[in-house]
Amino acid sequence: MPFTSFGLSPALLQGVKAMGYVDPTPIQLRAIPLIIQGKDLIGSAQTGTGKTAAFALPILSKLGEHEAGGARVLILEPTRELAAQVETAIRDFARFTNLTVSVIFGGVAYGKQMDEMKRGVDIIVATPGRLLDHMERGTCKLDKVQYVVLDEADRMLDMGFLPDVKRIVEKSPRDRHTSLFSATIPPQIESLIKWAMKDPETIEIGARRTPAETVKHVIYPVSERQKQDLLRALLDQVNYDSVIIFCRTKHRADSISNLLKKNQHAVAVLHSNRTQREREQALKGFRDGRFEVLVATDIAARGLDIADVSHVINYDVPQHPEDYIHRIGRTGRAEATGDAFTLMVAEDSAYVMRIERFISQRIPRLRLENFNYEYTALFEEEKPNQPRTERKIQGVRLSGGYYFGPARKRRR
Ligand code: AMP
Repeated sequence: MPFTSFGLSPALLQGVKAMGYVDPTPIQLRAIPLIIQGKDLIGSAQTGTGKTAAFALPILSKLGEHEAGGARVLILEPTRELAAQVETAIRDFARFTNLTVSVIFGGVAYGKQMDEMKRGVDIIVATPGRLLDHMERGTCKLDKVQYVVLDEADRMLDMGFLPDVKRIVEKSPRDRHTSLFSATIPPQIESLIKWAMKDPETIEIGARRTPAETVKHVIYPVSERQKQDLLRALLDQVNYDSVIIFCRTKHRADSISNLLKKNQHAVAVLHSNRTQREREQALKGFRDGRFEVLVATDIAARGLDIADVSHVINYDVPQHPEDYIHRIGRTGRAEATGDAFTLMVAEDSAYVMRIERFISQRIPRLRLENFNYEYTALFEEEKPNQPRTERKIQGVRLSGGYYFGPARKRRR
């Protein structure tokens, strides 16, 4: 089914074409007709599935032309980066229309946001805190809103934004259409759904808990003392174009980035202690290819559309299984394949077990070739049931219970 069969406006179809999209993705196939029909929608889909276009195209198409008098669409996002990314996507889709969009988030001056709001925009993409500020100052009204999109609702819950979200939604007209996207639906989101939505349709694309099929993911067991050495050795051996390294804390992200800088890697850091400007520069530099490595905390894990990430390395095992899916979802996006490596130390065993139970898969253990391993009890984990003989599995050698690889040389 091509994009032309949805009844989208010609200007938007032109926008889709200019984006280079040929066929709709599964979530687009299912969400676009429902939103066009005016249904409230709950969507759960893996990251990188084309979720933004799935809600933005039908909504923009319904808006038609620019109208003065106040925003008709409100899209709430948990982080500034996501808000900026969704705003950019909307500008791209709407480039052959005269619709206007504004992005509202904290950490920057109010002036430009106020000016845009005074002039009147059709679409507001916002994070909850700053939007509430504007509403309280009277610089933003939601009385003309027809469409509300609550994106990454589970992330908003994690970040403590649900009360703000409710206060915002309360100020929008009751006869609006509401869409909500969330990887998981915990009870608090369930009650938000009951409160904010009317007779919603639910669409679930793929199993909620499976990593993207285009990502090959493996675990490298290692002793805590050798973690940094293994990371450096991995980066030396792997033929990567761009890599995101996830750390548990801001402090660890800073220290890993300093270590890699000393080792002549071009590194950017992304975490919430950095200023808005630093975060934007980090993302832009990474997208442009100026930095080959982005070291990040989970703030960068969800939803950020960073194209062509060839590898994700979990320097620390994520503590929430959902974050594992989101982290490794940074690679293998839009049907490309990517590799995700997780460094695992003995204390991580319980977390890894939880992840494996969550995704109903055992993640293969690998040992890096030519790395001088110290003993760790983790190496005992695999031995009993593993064949003694060497055999090839998916192009990687298995020996004595371990895969050895990837033995690829860096291009640079
Ligand atoms: P999203 O899940 O909205 O963050 O989208 C992930 C990536 O897929 C973005 O780079 C989109 O531009 C891209 N994308 C979305 N829909 C399509 C499509 N139908 N065909 C090709 N790429 C797409």
